[in-house]
Amino acid sequence: MIETVGIIGAGTMGNGIAQVCAAAGLNVTMVDISDAAVQRGLKTVGSSLDRLVSKEKMTAADRDATLARIVATTDKSKLAACDLVIEAATENEELKVKILRDLCAGLKPSALVATNTSSISITRLAASTDRPDRFIGMHFFNPVPVMALLELIKGLQTSDDTVAKAEAFAKRVGKVAITAKNSPGFAVNRILCPMINEAIFALQEGIATAEEIDAGMKLGCNHPIGPLALADLIGLDTMLSVMEVFYTGFNDPKYRPAPLLKEMVDAGHLGRKTGQGFYSYSK
Ligand code: NAD
Repeated sequence: MIETVGIIGAGTMGNGIAQVCAAAGLNVTMVDISDAAVQRGLKTVGSSLDRLVSKEKMTAADRDATLARIVATTDKSKLAACDLVIEAATENEELKVKILRDLCAGLKPSALVATNTSSISITRLAASTDRPDRFIGMHFFNPVPVMALLELIKGLQTSDDTVAKAEAFAKRVGKVAITAKNSPGFAVNRILCPMINEAIFALQEGIATAEEIDAGMKLGCNHPIGPLALADLIGLDTMLSVMEVFYTGFNDPKYRPAPLLKEMVDAGHLGRKTGQGFYSYSK
């Protein structure tokens, strides 16, 4: 039974995962590298819960109880009691391998370990742990409290028991699980990210403006958000690393990142998180 969940990374995804776990009654320990990052993550959870209270989707008492279930810290040793640890740190394979190697020594042997990576091989990350059979991809979607899906990804070594426990966990935190095989981008991003990359090519080639491309996909294809606004939400640095993983993983030029995406990242225009992406968020 999973009752205590550890989360590594208090950023966009980590704090959202912390919120849904705590709201489902689980005890949560959220870890990041600096006090500033930990406090930012906790503040985001607080504001998100406040919005739910103001919309009368949650009572003030439930908000307080949810927040009280989250321990936010820079001390990784506090993860020792966790039944499940979900790694949600920056999308960088070298960093994730280091985090996972350091993490496992301090965990209970029975603890499951998961990664929220958007694109990196689950089989390869599993191999860097001491428990590849108890390692699984848990790919949440952004914003985590809103999106219903949890994509579970089986590495070559992931046991059926781990998949069953992950499916039960998904249900417990109110998500619908689908299971995908390990392959670059798994099922959803394999389809979504090349579509967004193509929208960036269309913008770069002057086919239409950002507003027109997004309006076209919303009104013509019934997408709830346009691809360029979605890229800003995901983070353009994350988008670029996903496309690079596809490009090298499949060794196929059809996945090459749009040059404009690289330019935006080089300029530090990473989307909502920096206030500037394909759209401006400064106001
Ligand atoms: P983010 O940049 O918002 O947050 C990453 C956090 O990880 C930062 O707070 C950073 O300080 C922290 N971190 C870095 N090194 C660390 C370490 N050694 N220990 C603890 N914390 C550390 O990134 P994000 O968007 O939250 O992405 C996190 C993961 O989730 C990535 O693997 C990404 O691919 C995946 N993901 C992102 C989205 C999305 O839409 N943003 C969607 C699904 C999956």
